[in-house]
Amino acid sequence: MFALFSSDLAIDLGTANTCVYARGKGIIVNEPSIVAINKINGSIEAVGREAKDMLGRTPGNIIAIKPMKDGVIADFEITEKMLTYFIKQAHNRTVWVRPRIVIGVPSEITQVEKRAVKDSAYRAKASEVFLVEEAMAAAIGAGMPITEPAGNMIVDVGGGTTDIAVISLAGIVYSKAVRVAGNEMDEAIISYVKKTYNLLIGERTAENIKIRVGSAYGLDERITMEIKGRHLIEGVPKTITITDEEIREALAETVNVIVDAVRVALERTPPELSADIVDRGIVLTGGGSLLKNLDKRLREETGLPVAMADDPLSSVVLGAGQMLSDFALLRKISIDSIAPSHWRLAAGCGRRPHRVDLRPGQYAVRRTRAGRRDVRCVL
Ligand code: ADP
Ligand code: MG
Repeated sequence: MFALFSSDLAIDLGTANTCVYARGKGIIVNEPSIVAINKINGSIEAVGREAKDMLGRTPGNIIAIKPMKDGVIADFEITEKMLTYFIKQAHNRTVWVRPRIVIGVPSEITQVEKRAVKDSAYRAKASEVFLVEEAMAAAIGAGMPITEPAGNMIVDVGGGTTDIAVISLAGIVYSKAVRVAGNEMDEAIISYVKKTYNLLIGERTAENIKIRVGSAYGLDERITMEIKGRHLIEGVPKTITITDEEIREALAETVNVIVDAVRVALERTPPELSADIVDRGIVLTGGGSLLKNLDKRLREETGLPVAMADDPLSSVVLGAGQMLSDFALLRKISIDSIAPSHWRLAAGCGRRPHRVDLRPGQYAVRRTRAGRRDVRCVL
């Protein structure tokens, strides 16, 4: 019965897109992680899709900001505003609900950033906040059997980072993030078009080119696309036609970095788990994995089976959403999840703190209902 009225949320705070999942409802927000700010009075002009449409088209007093860059929070204040906006949107602006929130964060996020994300969620009226690693959430969302004692490799190609993880027994055995993914591909296209055609194109055009004609491995059919931009020398708008082959060349270096990162991950995986990966293969997720033939390229390079997740853009939020109804699993895999009302610092002053954030070396103690002492620490 409670589940029906539950306001619990799962959030994928991605560098390119933020998704929010509500228990019992599914994905209710899926918008670009972009905020348009009025520089004069600091007010928010637009968030999400509306702000994305403004990218590169704003007058002097408005700037469109991507607060999450390279898998880390580049702008805390704006990230918080964005998070608050999406949480409010998810709840149709009802202010009295105090949801439990599971948030997927990049695995290489720092303590300070973790704290910033948590604080934002608490300020947005969360009752309890759990941070989970995106790779873990993505693996669950992609339906991988992560609790089994066997190696599962997931490669999440996002906007800012490509995250590779090997998971076994609900724990991350190996993880590596490289700051090369979708955005870097867009930039590679911008500089290729500039160098080859003296044509200046914007980020959005570059992304469209990548999605329509970009690829990581030769295609069966040749594709071309007309693109428009500003000619650098003539200074006027101009249209040119480009082919998939050219864009493949433009993206080659970026794609190589991703392929190399996967190779390194395979080399560093403990042998028993490697053996499992040979049988089970690699699962690709994240929007960047939709680059045409990236799966084929990885198959060629590694000789392993490579499969795409069913819905690569939503794996993280779906996985985090599944955890909302499996709290035992959530507590096991969330990173320093200390529920504010149940825990207190053992070294603290005895008063129940509003929230406990542990620093390495500190520990928290709680008495369970059965009267047992339950201790958690951060190593
Ligand atoms: P993040 O988790 O960092 O927010 P996403 O998983 O949402 O990233 O993926 C966003 C990236 O995926 C963007 O760089 C976007 O351009 C790219 N992308 C989306 N669709 C495609 C596609 N069909 N082909 C290639 N790249 C794509
Ligand atoms: Mg992501």
